[in-house]
Amino acid sequence: MSDTYDLLVIGAGSGGVAASRRAAAHGAKVAVVEASRVGGTCVIRGCVPKKLLMYAAQFRDAFHEAAGFGWSLGQPHFEMPRWAAAKAAETDRLEQIYRQMLAGSKVELVEGRACIEGPGRVRVGDRLLQARHLLIASGAQPVRDSIPGIEGCATSDELLDLHVLPASAAVIGSGFIALEFASLLQRLGVRVSLFYRAGLPLRGFDEDLRTRAAAALQAAGIELHPGCVPRAIQHADGQRLLVLDDERVPGFPFVLNATGRRPNTAGLGLETIGITPDARGAIPVDAQLRTSAANVYAIGDVTHRVNLTPVAIAEGRALADSLFGGAPRSVDLSLVASAVFMLPPVATIGPTEAELAASGAKLAVFEADFRPMKQAFIGGTERCYMKLLVDAAGGRVRAAHMIGADAPEIIQSLAVAITAGATKAQFDRTIAMHPTAAEEFVLMREPVRRVG
Ligand code: FAD
Repeated sequence: MSDTYDLLVIGAGSGGVAASRRAAAHGAKVAVVEASRVGGTCVIRGCVPKKLLMYAAQFRDAFHEAAGFGWSLGQPHFEMPRWAAAKAAETDRLEQIYRQMLAGSKVELVEGRACIEGPGRVRVGDRLLQARHLLIASGAQPVRDSIPGIEGCATSDELLDLHVLPASAAVIGSGFIALEFASLLQRLGVRVSLFYRAGLPLRGFDEDLRTRAAAALQAAGIELHPGCVPRAIQHADGQRLLVLDDERVPGFPFVLNATGRRPNTAGLGLETIGITPDARGAIPVDAQLRTSAANVYAIGDVTHRVNLTPVAIAEGRALADSLFGGAPRSVDLSLVASAVFMLPPVATIGPTEAELAASGAKLAVFEADFRPMKQAFIGGTERCYMKLLVDAAGGRVRAAHMIGADAPEIIQSLAVAITAGATKAQFDRTIAMHPTAAEEFVLMREPVRRVG
């Protein structure tokens, strides 16, 4: 049996669903192929369940803070099975909504694993699908071979499906996923040790956020092991043994492999259309999301550029508008806000101070570092840190970095102003909203230093 489409999409995750629905809205005949669950990483095993677990974890801090505000509580107790059941129900609900959205948009959902067989031809089981345009939106998955023996350890996929939490855990990695899970496992009562290669976690983030993120993890009781990644992981008597360079072999009942993610390109049949993935397994694309093969495009995590849900969605919609909407456009990835939902959270938009300095930019650096009113009242130690990087000439705000309560909500709003090219003078003209933490962003008067 053969079917022909204007657009055939591989992967019904964030990017694939967005592209399919937008293309169908422009009148294209569209099918999307999905090998697992509709909704992809974000909905099923990423942003959504992760944040739902983060909400659960945050209550630990809230219970503690409540006492400082006059509340008396019994001994709080977290039941992972109850969270797991509620999470499963929620992801089922969201998946159903995604399925309904596809059906309502007249996008055909083809369930099964897609394999490209040649230009415009994709096999799914016994069906051969033909397409004028092919979009690869197959996402990424955890790397499971970064360390000998790590293949038997849980990744974020498995962690989010746990029904019982371990008493202690080693988390290996220091990217956003490692820090988020280290932070929330600790709040849920797990003793956490974090092992990572660099001196500081969160490579790629501003140095001032990295040092404070490390300090916040440590203050929460997480054991940090910078510059220390196991050489191998052995399994014995229900324990995972981390073989370290200094010959120590600490054992843990649970190890979280957060050592990175790899684009889903293996077994896709890319060789049949002449696409060669790069060294990391990603599909190279140009600014119009075109691959090296005619009429074949790629978006989202499979291209391994900015691996975030809103980026995959924006790319999917831009591509559909370009192909079928008569409005060719590309997505500007030069200013993308992002967050680390650790506790307290980190959020950022724009380059780091080091990146701007290295580019030769002349900068004024503004900072605020304070103990928020809520923490001061209860004698807490958690602080809030904010930084604005401003062009010395012209005063344009190039970047905002923050660690502290509500950082993602605050930076998301600031991202509008920064994307619009707001200047420091415009920040200064903005009347503060009091009492908030966010008001500090419009109350920074003197630079703490000048760069360049
Ligand atoms: P995906 O959503 O991964 O979708 C790809 C789909 O393709 C999958 O459903 C897969 O099953 C399917 N597929 C693969 N191969 C085939 C094949 N051969 N045939 C058919 N189907 C196939 N991003 C944020 O913006 N904010 C966050 O807070 C955040 N938190 C995260 C937390 C975790 C733990 C993880 C793992 C990721 C997180 N992300 C977050 C990243 C975000 O989930 C991804 O950037 C986003 O899902 C990428 O969308 P995508 O469409 O490119 O791929």
